[in-house]
Amino acid sequence: MNAPSREFDVEAIRADFPILTRMLDPETPMIYLDGGATSQRPRQVIDAEVSYLLRDNAAVKRGAHRMAGLATDAYEGSRERVAEFLGAPSPDEVVFTKNATEALNLVAHSLGSGDSSTPEHLRVREGDEILVTEMEHHANLVPWQELARRTGATLRWIPVAEDFTLDLSDLVSLLTERTKVLAFTHQSNVLGTVNPVATLVEAAHAVGALTVLDAAQSAPHMPFDVASLGVDLVALSGHKMLGPTGIGMLWGRYDLLEQMPPFLTGGSMIELVEMERSTFAEPPARFEAGTPPISQAVGLAAACDYLDGLGMDQVAAHERALTQRALSGLAGIDGVRVIGPALSPERTGAVSFDLAGRHPHDVGQVLDSLGIEVRVGHHCAWPLHRRFGVHGTTRASFSVHTTTAEVDAFVEGVAHTVDFFGALA
Ligand code: PLP
Repeated sequence: MNAPSREFDVEAIRADFPILTRMLDPETPMIYLDGGATSQRPRQVIDAEVSYLLRDNAAVKRGAHRMAGLATDAYEGSRERVAEFLGAPSPDEVVFTKNATEALNLVAHSLGSGDSSTPEHLRVREGDEILVTEMEHHANLVPWQELARRTGATLRWIPVAEDFTLDLSDLVSLLTERTKVLAFTHQSNVLGTVNPVATLVEAAHAVGALTVLDAAQSAPHMPFDVASLGVDLVALSGHKMLGPTGIGMLWGRYDLLEQMPPFLTGGSMIELVEMERSTFAEPPARFEAGTPPISQAVGLAAACDYLDGLGMDQVAAHERALTQRALSGLAGIDGVRVIGPALSPERTGAVSFDLAGRHPHDVGQVLDSLGIEVRVGHHCAWPLHRRFGVHGTTRASFSVHTTTAEVDAFVEGVAHTVDFFGALA
């Protein structure tokens, strides 16, 4: 993380995002409150990607020509920049993937490869246990369910308490000497809850379990440093941190990556290939089979520059203020039930709510008619919604370019939606 290079001036920030001037129809400006699903990109990110495509585009690593060298430099330079943003001790600990989902699948498949040369602590087998939480996005649940199914391991989970935080009262019995992995989200994409990483990591490491952190929602919104978090592996998403779609990241401690078998196999990840067998390259190449997302990596590096330029402390403070404003506003509207904790340092700017049992698609449609773009449904966290007795919720999520006026328009929009549906009873 670098020192900020500019004032946190929302109007100046907004001028960097060309899409924010878009009208949804001749009368309706767009209010984008869905950065939790995918963020908008500043001009600096778009320009970096376009400039790479206009000047340096080629396949990386495989060519003797100068263009291949330029493309490889751009790609590997981006890895260095991303590693710096994440606080990774070495760029070789950063693996580029398609998205956070692929990063999590990579880990789950690698741990279940059944490769007998893999050390015991990196092999999940029958009788082992995998621990997740009840608040996981499906991306950090289904790959572990599948790993358990393939290997005969048992999946267990930490429940979510009434106050929307993890119920850690049974942690000691949930983490046993059979637990191989604890996989958990840093920040819930529905509740906004930020989980106690240090407590969870300490407890997992005490029984020798590997820790896997889903940081898709946290890294774009708060100071983030893998070295001080103490986790073993981290999955991240480019398109939620002002970067391009088509790129995610797996960060892993190098000594672990070095011992993990590959997920996808093919070109670019090998050391030696014969007709009968192959040996594999060292990380990160071992985990990057095929032609990688090169222009996306360049755009992602520019997104890291952009966020660092604003300062992640300022980003967090800005979004916290917006969250407070939204929560206070919603508290004054009858029929709104926020599915998430009150404002605290352990809460960030995903604000989900149920509106007197109204279908969230209906709520979203009324808000959309006002130009307010929010997310509706189960947000890929179906078990979590069941936990709170709702089929789905409506979620507003805030970003560096969100203004207080937009948050006020959102709150007024929700009040209008209540009126629109008539009596709440
Ligand atoms: N984890 C969380 C907490 C998310 O919110 C999401 C996406 O919404 C994902 C993982 C999946 O991210 P990606 O789209 O990069 O696969």
